[in-house]
Amino acid sequence: MIRVRFAPSPTGNLHIGGSRTALFNWLYARAKDGKFILRIEDTDKLRSKPEYVEEILGSLKWLGFCWDEIYYQSQRSGIYREYAERLLKEKLAYVEKTEGRGEAIIYKVTPQNVIIDDLIRGRIQFDTANIKDQVLIKSDGTPTYNFACVVDDYTMNITHVIRGDDHISNTPKQALLYQALKLPAPYFAHLPLIMGMEGGRLSKRTGATAISDYRSLGYLAEALVNYLLLLSWSPGENREVIEINEAIKIFDIKDVNKTAATFDMKKLDWMNNQYLKGADPARLTELILPLLTEKKYIQEGNFDRGYIISLVKLFQGRLSTLRDFADWADFFFLKDIQIDPQAREKFLSRDLSREFKLFSERLEALEQFDIASIEASFRQLVGELNIEAKVLIHPVRAALTGKTVGPGLFEVIYYLGKERTKERLLAWVKRGNV
Ligand code: GLU
Repeated sequence: MIRVRFAPSPTGNLHIGGSRTALFNWLYARAKDGKFILRIEDTDKLRSKPEYVEEILGSLKWLGFCWDEIYYQSQRSGIYREYAERLLKEKLAYVEKTEGRGEAIIYKVTPQNVIIDDLIRGRIQFDTANIKDQVLIKSDGTPTYNFACVVDDYTMNITHVIRGDDHISNTPKQALLYQALKLPAPYFAHLPLIMGMEGGRLSKRTGATAISDYRSLGYLAEALVNYLLLLSWSPGENREVIEINEAIKIFDIKDVNKTAATFDMKKLDWMNNQYLKGADPARLTELILPLLTEKKYIQEGNFDRGYIISLVKLFQGRLSTLRDFADWADFFFLKDIQIDPQAREKFLSRDLSREFKLFSERLEALEQFDIASIEASFRQLVGELNIEAKVLIHPVRAALTGKTVGPGLFEVIYYLGKERTKERLLAWVKRGNV
């Protein structure tokens, strides 16, 4: 049975790189009916923090990468010591005493050629002549990463080690330890590097944001997962949008790209929009409500959910993130709307008080206040005034929403309601425009 593991160190939050590694491990396990093991590599007592463990577990759950087993390295020190002592007994390792501190156990490296048949990169040869003797257990009693990794991967029956390319230099060291311990080594698959848009490694600015931040910025988990998938794999036929359940059916680790991936925030936004467009408006509303409460646009327990769902429907086709909704639909919630200076200059700098006044009178006179009647009365008015519809559409939108773009004007008027629409139009009439 295939057993893979994701082994984060809780010395920081889960980022794009880590979540891509987690995805490919989880996906391979699901694709092959195997097991996905989570191993928290928390041997660094100073840098490991419980809040990072929490963030990592929470983000993995949010992404949907549920694990079958979980282990904490900090609880396994006895196992590491046992294996280190085996090497001591066979004289493949030695003890080094440090004044005032404990004893370290060190593996003696004998130069040789190590060959790894990487499932993604193909055959890689390493000359271990430059590898120094390896510390197995540090003088404070904690194991080193390479040693704990080998002992764990073996004792946890890991069949495939899938991890980032940044670990490639550790692989020959681990291969030597498998040999020394006379243990079978797992298969290795190193995922290509992720670069930022300007080339170079992914930096804080270009996407090393914590996964929990993507969540609060309003990305949908399934969109982020689909995007992570495309970073190093493709379903073929130029497809980009693929639901994870479909990917599970066709994924194989050997089809992962060899070439470096580029993290492109715009592409992620595009992907998020693909999923937001098709999502259930009621579900999006639930995700949006906290953002609206945060901005004080609504009060908890005192809002009309059905109304907000209608607004979400108006915008969802063009959203890149859920936060866009809070920004773009602000005029539905604010009493005093902000007029974008560009909207003011482009559409409200001409005196339109007569037209605005006439239009609000027409709205007032409407017996049926529905989208079709609003549109009909508007079309009739511009016909009578002998002006093109757009001459009035844009200024009315600017006066009602403060923006140059937005959803269809008649829908906007309908959902703003007669009173608020008239109020905003007449405010411009009073001002006599600028
Ligand atoms: N704790 C290591 C890391 O966070 C795990 C490396 C591995 O997968 O072997 O990068």
